[in-house]
Amino acid sequence: MRTRPGICNRKKRYASREAAELAARDAPFRLRAYKCELCRQFHLTSRTKGMKLPPHEVERARSGEPPV
Ligand SMILES: [Zn+2]
Repeated sequence: MRTRPGICNRKKRYASREAAELAARDAPFRLRAYKCELCRQFHLTSRTKGMKLPPHEVERARSGEPPV
């Protein structure tokens, strides 16, 4: 699974998973950090940890959203 360049460029980058998760804690909703294959840094996604994906989310994942 790959992150699309457009998504990578728009998102805030964090040098480490720790930094990303720290920022996620301040968000008003649940976020998780993931490593981006394009910039080798970390971004945040609103996918919650351990959540089973509904079919439409799986479709979105196939179309280039960040890996789960
Ligand atoms: Zn990136």
